[in-house]
Amino acid sequence: MSRQKRRTEQAIRWDQEKAEQDKRSFPFSDMRSEPVGFAGGSRRTYTGALQELKRVDSMETVKIVELSGGTDVDVGSLVALNDKRVYERKGGLLECWVPAEVQGESSVYFAGIDWKRVPSRNELAYLFDAFFAKYKREVLMLMGERINPTKQGGKWVYFVPPQVGTGGSVKWSTSSEEVAEFHSVARWIGTIHVHPGKSYSPSGTDVDEWADPLSAGVHLIFGRSGGFGVFGAMGGKTFPLASGSIVGTKRTPVE
Ligand SMILES: [Zn+2]
Repeated sequence: MSRQKRRTEQAIRWDQEKAEQDKRSFPFSDMRSEPVGFAGGSRRTYTGALQELKRVDSMETVKIVELSGGTDVDVGSLVALNDKRVYERKGGLLECWVPAEVQGESSVYFAGIDWKRVPSRNELAYLFDAFFAKYKREVLMLMGERINPTKQGGKWVYFVPPQVGTGGSVKWSTSSEEVAEFHSVARWIGTIHVHPGKSYSPSGTDVDEWADPLSAGVHLIFGRSGGFGVFGAMGGKTFPLASGSIVGTKRTPVE
């Protein structure tokens, strides 16, 4: 058995044991009012918002901001729109223009995504069968791009963090040793989780959690019948990137 597989199985086992313990010490009925985080560690909570996909070519620029000396921000990385806000460019897997300062109603503009850096639908379909479909409660996995890919290890890292799931939500620990290990081998892409019903729309909790700058990225939600939605999260906003179904999709096994 590969190291990765062993680690994943350990994490799943850990997750099941932890859920059992938490059932005793952490009343599920109160979970929605609990801060995100686990005993001993708390996480700042954010308020996010859903928005439609707004493409960067719909930005109505009024003026390129010329920056004078004394700043390390690239000239051209900031633009002012006619909503009188200054936007800055954020790059990486997901490229967007986000308000330089979040205040009131503002939008995030989508410039592009590198789909080659997102796991294929065939791998995701395999994960759905092998993992997500086996649970009645919500379960979540982190997905990352392996920093040093090996032939056996595959290009992506899927990791089950310590978590507590119910029929309607899932909370995971961002600060465990296991999660630190994930970050040591993978570049963050985002998360995958499954919803209790057919719907794969993000819940208010999802949108708020993804507003955390540390969660910015690409998030996938499966509905129970195999439908899925892929969402981008950046600058406090969540917007749809793609949707589809894995029904009839070829399965590519993942270690
Ligand atoms: Zn959700």
